[in-house]
Amino acid sequence: MFKAVMIEKSADGTQSVAIRDVPEDQLPEGDVTVRVEYSTLNYKDALAITGRGPIVRSFPMIPGVDFAGVVENSQHPDFAPGARVILNGWGVGEKHWGGLAQKARMSGDWLVPVPAQLTTRQAMEIGTAGYTAMLCVQALQREDVTPDKGPVLVTGAAGGVGSVAIMLLSRLGYHVVAVTGRPEEEAYLTGLGASEIRARQDFSTPGKPLDKARWAGAVDVAGGVILANVCASMAYGGVVTACGLASDMSFPSTVAPFILRGVTLVGIDSVMCPKHRRLAAWAGLAELIDAAKLAAMTSDITLDDAIEAAASLLDGKIRGRVVVRMP
Ligand code: NDP
Repeated sequence: MFKAVMIEKSADGTQSVAIRDVPEDQLPEGDVTVRVEYSTLNYKDALAITGRGPIVRSFPMIPGVDFAGVVENSQHPDFAPGARVILNGWGVGEKHWGGLAQKARMSGDWLVPVPAQLTTRQAMEIGTAGYTAMLCVQALQREDVTPDKGPVLVTGAAGGVGSVAIMLLSRLGYHVVAVTGRPEEEAYLTGLGASEIRARQDFSTPGKPLDKARWAGAVDVAGGVILANVCASMAYGGVVTACGLASDMSFPSTVAPFILRGVTLVGIDSVMCPKHRRLAAWAGLAELIDAAKLAAMTSDITLDDAIEAAASLLDGKIRGRVVVRMP
C-alpha cells in the first residue's frame, strides 16, 4: 500500500478528496516505478484538489503535476533503479495518476534526470512553476531580449512562477519590474532581485490599445486584461511570454502592439514541452538557482496538509513555492 491524495467523483457528480491508502497493484501502466520523495502544490493541482477548475479528466485521480524521487523498478533503458528523476506535466495529475503520492508509475520517456547540482528537494522547490519560469526566460533569450534592451516585467510576482522568474532574470543581469497585488511583499520581491515594484491594479483595468512603451520583455502569469495591458506597454520589438491565467483566460487585446511595435507574444506550455527544451531548462536552473533564495521562498507541508493548502493557494495567500514532503 502507498499513501496518496485521491480525488473521487460520486454517481451524482459530487467531487471529494481525501488521503487514501492505495494498493500498489493499482498503479497505472508504465515502465518506471518511482518512490516519490517530494511533490509540490502548483496552481493546477490546487484547481484539481478544490474542484474549482476542470483539470481532472478521469476519476479516481491522484493529483500532482510534478514530483522528484528515486527509481525503484525500471524497464526503461535511460533509468536504472536508484536513479534520481523529475517529472513535470505530460498530463500526470490530470489523466494519469500524479505526484501527490508515495509511489508513481509512468513512461520513462516522461522523466528527466535530477541535475547533479540539485537535491530532489531543491528540484521540487523549483517544481513545475520554476521550470516554467525558466522556459519563459529561455524564450526571451531565444528572441534576443538581452539585459541591455530594457526592463523586463514579471506579473503574479509573489507566486511560484513569478518568484522564480524574478530570481533567474535578476541573476542574468536584467532590470526586473515585479507586478504584485500584495504590496506587503515588497521586501520579499526585492530580496529575490526585483529592482522595481508595480501595483497589480495599475494593469487590471482595460487600457488603451497602445500605451507608453516601457518593457523589453515580460513574463505573464495573469492573462486577461493584465496581459492585454502588458502587450500595450511593450517597447518596440518587445517580447511577451504568456504562461498563465491567474487572472482569467481571456485576451482582450488588439493587434496594435503586434503590427505597430513589432511585439512578439510567445506561448509557453510546460506540459507537452519537448524533451530537449526540458533538459535545457533544468540545466539552466541548476546553474542559475540561488539555493538560499530558493529555500527562503519555499514553504514545507506534508501530504496531509496538501488538501487545505490548495484553497489557500487559489486565494492568493501563499507566497512563492510549496513543497510537499512524502511520509
Ligand atoms: P501561484 O498561485 O503560485 O501564483 C499566481 C500569482 O498570480 C499569485 O501569487 C498572485 O501574485 C497573482 N494573482 C493571483 N490572483 C490574481 C488575479 N486575479 N489577477 C492577477 N494576478 C493574480 O501560481 P503559479 O505561479 O504556480 O502559476 C501561475 C499561473 O501560471 C497559473 O495560471 C498557472 O496555471 C500557470 N502555469 C502555467 C504553466 C504552463 O505550462 N503554461 C505551468 C505552470 C503554471 P501577486 O500576489 O504577486 O499579484
